[in-house]
Amino acid sequence: MNVMVVGAGPTGLTAAVELARRGVDVRIVDKRAEGSGFSRAVGILPKSLELLEASGASARLLDEGVRIQRVHVFQGKQELLTVSLGQQGADGGFILALAQDRTEAILRDCLSNHGVAVEWSRELTDFRQEGDRVFAVFADGATEDFDYLVGADGVRSRVRDALGVDYDGINLPETWSIADVDANGWPFDKSFVVFRLDHGRVAVVVPLEANRYRVISNTDNALAALPLPLAVTNIHREGEFKISVRQVDRYNVDRVYLAGDAAHCHSPVGGRGMNLGIDDAAEFARRLADGTLEGYGESRHARGRRVIKASEGLRKFVTSKSGINAMLFRVLTAAVGRVPALQRGLGRAMLYD
Ligand SMILES: Cc1cc2nc3c(=O)[nH]c(=O)nc-3n(C[C@H](O)[C@H](O)[C@H](O)COP(=O)(O)OP(=O)(O)OC[C@H]3O[C@@H](n4cnc5c(N)ncnc54)[C@H](O)[C@@H]3O)c2cc1C
Repeated sequence: MNVMVVGAGPTGLTAAVELARRGVDVRIVDKRAEGSGFSRAVGILPKSLELLEASGASARLLDEGVRIQRVHVFQGKQELLTVSLGQQGADGGFILALAQDRTEAILRDCLSNHGVAVEWSRELTDFRQEGDRVFAVFADGATEDFDYLVGADGVRSRVRDALGVDYDGINLPETWSIADVDANGWPFDKSFVVFRLDHGRVAVVVPLEANRYRVISNTDNALAALPLPLAVTNIHREGEFKISVRQVDRYNVDRVYLAGDAAHCHSPVGGRGMNLGIDDAAEFARRLADGTLEGYGESRHARGRRVIKASEGLRKFVTSKSGINAMLFRVLTAAVGRVPALQRGLGRAMLYD
């Protein structure tokens, strides 16, 4: 059996690694000339680490990443709540912070242990399905046939377009800003820090490695939005991004399957996007090996819908401009701060839901 994976982001790489370790003849192509140096996702959740354990990727990710054990929630400069993730689970819960380009590099290394390398500068332009074969057409004019094709080609998926499935949803109007910086003396080591500001504005600081931080905000200048001083010594990059919230109506047509951002996208609030793609890819590989692929679409659609609903609920709540919501935010965070069981529940939701 042979499988073509289109796209060497975290989703496609997970699919390829999980198929290769089960002995499936897998190939993976990407239209880029090399791995992206642009890192989007940072937070790796416990479920992703569990899924990537058998391949050996988790051990490497754990070696390199920062274990985030606390989430500090501020209203402006005033700290309202600290959620300890470390109370969850037997070995102490944490979200692993690691820049996405490093996660991808580790997955590529694991793939190379199975003798598979990403075929860079190889763009899929089209495909057709005939009988039980998928004929993939590449920009260099070649056509090759496979038993299955996985479209892990991101939010502007060519595979999805060629399948003709709907990708319904909305484009959010606001622009978000992002900065990756070196800074000294930031007091919240191994913590995510969430600042709720006035008028529905938010800013979040995430450690990437020692003295290096990612700052994200729904304002036009993430660094300027921070209410506490961050002593920046070097700016690695600054940029902007827009958010769409979408999901496909079906995850496969015959032998062509969708996974990752090709099938769903939403805001980074809650840090679920990459993790959901890793989960899609691992489930595809497991079901292919088990002979239960027919359940993939329904299972992944339901999971994607739940994650999008939760992420959107959280985004709307923290970015709401309503005064009532601001008051509710204070009341709820104060209540959670006072009741350890609620804190543990919130910590669990951050890690596992
Ligand atoms: C600012 C920001 C912060 C984020 N933070 C988090 C976070 O903390 N946690 C989290 O879980 N998620 C986060 N996300 C979301 C996460 O980055 C994405 O969900 C994730 O990258 C999706 O991975 P993917 O492999 O599905 O797609 P991609 O990473 O987009 O990879 C798709 C690949 O397909 C290739 N490709 C496209 N078309 C073709 C073609 N025709 N032929 C061949 N190759 C092709 C592309 O070159 C690309 O390499 C964040 C996103 C943003 C924007």
